[in-house]
Amino acid sequence: MTTEGLFARVERLYDVEAFRDLWVLIAGCGSGGGQVALQLAMSGVRKFILVDMDKLEIENVIRHVCGLRYVGWRKTAALADVLSDRNPEVEIRTFDDDVLEWSGLEGEVERSSVVVIGTDNEPSRYRLNEACVKTGTPFTVGRVFTRGIGGEAYAYRSGTAGCLACLEGFLERTRFREGVREIDLATEDERQKVYDLEIEEIKDSPGLAVDIGFIAAFHTRLTLDVLGDTAKERPKFMTPIEQNYFVWGNRRVHPFSKNFELQRMSLQPQEGCMVCGEQV
Ligand SMILES: [Zn+2]
Repeated sequence: MTTEGLFARVERLYDVEAFRDLWVLIAGCGSGGGQVALQLAMSGVRKFILVDMDKLEIENVIRHVCGLRYVGWRKTAALADVLSDRNPEVEIRTFDDDVLEWSGLEGEVERSSVVVIGTDNEPSRYRLNEACVKTGTPFTVGRVFTRGIGGEAYAYRSGTAGCLACLEGFLERTRFREGVREIDLATEDERQKVYDLEIEEIKDSPGLAVDIGFIAAFHTRLTLDVLGDTAKERPKFMTPIEQNYFVWGNRRVHPFSKNFELQRMSLQPQEGCMVCGEQV
């Protein structure tokens, strides 16, 4: 099938060739990582490294870019199929590995222009953080808070932005870490304690695709911004984003005081950071 005209609606304002030779590593091909990958493919990114150890389960479908026909597939293979359907010129390498045990991680991080962190647990994110700091590779990370009340997106760049440890150290002292957990990660006990009256709601709907979509959109834009730095020529339409951290409230629930609340900041490397300290 010919792909002539595929980007016709965007190519006048946007050089879709700018990103075609840059590798993007998607670590975690779940509802967040999958959406970011699809948006990137639709923005002209063609080279993907997809990493995820899980298979697509039926309960994933309602929040994932892959539909029912992919249930039982590896998430990497299912996402690769969806990306190829959007642009047959994509080049994809898949790794069905656990980020924590994957021996090829550092090498693949090093060959990537940006690492999109979409995994749902701290240990894997910190392993990716360390590999990115060590190899000087930028990363972007997106997180959705429990019940989809909101979430955050961050872009790391070696030397000018703090690493994940810097970010967490900073956020610990803010309201955005007070009683706020990531989506899907709160235990039953925690749910009972923190959200006493809403247990059924939490169990049944820990965030809709649309709630995740807002965060995935910020995550995608930050990723494109990082790619803009790396591309031979930054697309004119894509003026640099000044801040590197965005926290977004979907609903008027603590820590947010209104619907669609946005806060932004620029995080620099923090003095004495155990991970990126000596790089600064
Ligand atoms: Zn750091």
